[in-house]
Amino acid sequence: MKKRIVLYKRLPEALLARLQQQAEVTWVDTTGTDGLARLRDALPGAHGLLGASLRLDSSLLDLAPQLQVVSSVSVGVDNYDIAELTRRGVMLTNTPDVLTETTADTGFALILASARRVVELAGWVRDGHWQANLGPAHFGTDVHGKTLGIVGMGRIGEALARRGAAGFGMRVLYHSSRPKPEVDARYGARYCDLDALLREADFVCLTVPLSASTEGLIGARELALMKPEAILINIARGRVVDEPALIEALREKRIRAAGLDVFVQEPLSTASPLLQFDNVVATPHIGSATHETREAMARCAVENLLSALAGERPMNLVNEGAWKAVTGAYKA
Ligand code: NAP
Repeated sequence: MKKRIVLYKRLPEALLARLQQQAEVTWVDTTGTDGLARLRDALPGAHGLLGASLRLDSSLLDLAPQLQVVSSVSVGVDNYDIAELTRRGVMLTNTPDVLTETTADTGFALILASARRVVELAGWVRDGHWQANLGPAHFGTDVHGKTLGIVGMGRIGEALARRGAAGFGMRVLYHSSRPKPEVDARYGARYCDLDALLREADFVCLTVPLSASTEGLIGARELALMKPEAILINIARGRVVDEPALIEALREKRIRAAGLDVFVQEPLSTASPLLQFDNVVATPHIGSATHETREAMARCAVENLLSALAGERPMNLVNEGAWKAVTGAYKA
């Protein structure tokens, strides 16, 4: 009998067809006010879930007692109660690596856009203000040769470091859960504690996962340590930054600018004070959002899901404990 899969993210046609060959697939649109109710209706009997950006709480998991795997089309797994999934023997998989370079490109897009005031000045041209040559009031600041501070030297952090060091001749500082001598050797990078990084960096780039240890990592105290000419870039998760504290720092001009791809509340409300600042570049969580990368992520998620349902250890397993529970059960 075919396994049952509930899909709550659109897949490219070819991948959907591949899934449909192997399993009975139910598509659920989880957007809108009835979205959760539709998901609840689809969950009973499901062996696998595939999607992203949905908090699967215990009340939803209770509806799917046969669930074996949740395949997330994302690298970040902060949306999931991993301990609860593991306790239930449900494997969680994610899509690392395939989005690393694209997300680092997004980081650099925000660095360049905020330093050179690209979005603000493009709007200025469009609004018909370009009547004469520009003066210092419209100048930006250099990126090349500056100090790049990376908070979270993982896959994306390292891809940023490579761009900064090799492409822009930047000095690279980083703070992470531990020093990485191989990164120091490759990019001439230097590990330091967070406070030292905040004091020295011209660009503070956040690439840590959201967790209990990183929630609110950048608050009023940390923002006060940054140089007044420094720029904050957040491509991690909104909650890594204390947003009201950032708004206050921008209001008081305590930092030069911010480039933000992620927010505490997404989609960002048009009423957000962040949108009142000319020196904030806000993008709609586009870190991995290219055709090529989203397709690669979808492919990776499908492979993870099918492996798990076939009783194999999926390539990108997040919770080893669930696999142990599954294999232990098989042995018994
Ligand atoms: P990763 O390879 O796991 O890198 C994260 C790094 O942060 C690791 O080096 C980790 O240390 C370090 N870290 C964890 N907790 C820390 C703490 N409390 N203090 C300092 N460093 C800490 O993950 P990745 O693939 O680079 O992705 C990072 C995050 O970026 C994801 O979790 C996701 O939230 C976000 N992201 C956003 C987008 C977007 O669309 N904007 C796209 C992709 C990813 P260890 O090496 O010791 O584990």
